[in-house]
Amino acid sequence: MIEAENLVKTFGSTHALRGISFTVKNGEIYGLLGPNGSGKSTTMKILAGILRPTSGRVLVDGVNVSENPIKVKEITGYVPETPVLYESLTPIEFFNFIGSVRRIPGERLNEMVETLVKAFGIEKYLGELIGSLSFGTKQKVSLISALLHDPKVLILDEAMNGLDPKSARILRELLLQFKGEGRSIVFSTHVLQLAEMICDRVGVIYNGEIIAEGTVDELKKFAHEESLEDVFLKLT
Ligand code: ADP
Ligand code: MG
Repeated sequence: MIEAENLVKTFGSTHALRGISFTVKNGEIYGLLGPNGSGKSTTMKILAGILRPTSGRVLVDGVNVSENPIKVKEITGYVPETPVLYESLTPIEFFNFIGSVRRIPGERLNEMVETLVKAFGIEKYLGELIGSLSFGTKQKVSLISALLHDPKVLILDEAMNGLDPKSARILRELLLQFKGEGRSIVFSTHVLQLAEMICDRVGVIYNGEIIAEGTVDELKKFAHEESLEDVFLKLT
């Protein structure tokens, strides 16, 4: 479903990505794990089509993201590391706005909004201005807005940030359900416990390169370590 081929990204003299390749199949959750500044967000932005690679390419469902970003955005949901929302709208106004941009039929949109708002328990904030909400609630609004069009692919950049344990569990269950429906998820995190719980495969990214990849068990064997945390600390 997702094929990232030899992604290189430079910002002036900074080599953010030095040749990143990985694939994510249908029904697979791929975790991108790495310390701060290792290139996770840059990779996620390139996958989502909001940043062009200096070289290399990404195919989503066989479509080149740089050549046909609109087509890719139709089937992709992206949750950035920091929520990007219209602060002067209420969540409901924002969801309606997303619905019209994405041309989601009204009834379907209302259904999705109702289900997701209930799942994340943000009913009581629907009439407040987004700008006045806490970071965690904004994060939930951002997550909901990325799911409204029923994407085949989800790209989540540190999406557990700011979520309380209850919401984190809801998101985890949602991701597993999503996977069960044959969709694909890439998410970056440094919450290793979470990665261990839900990822089919993980890639460890360090200094713009994937330095190890496999199932959590494979990585533990590879590094002769008992926990993913020890693997991570040994490699990065
Ligand atoms: P991570 O998400 O893993 O913390 P990033 O992908 O945000 O890492 O950043 C990787 C590297 O690229 C860092 O050195 C960061 O400073 C640099 N970088 C990211 N975005 C920009 C930008 N827009 N301009 C300049 N440097 C950037
Ligand atoms: Mg980041």
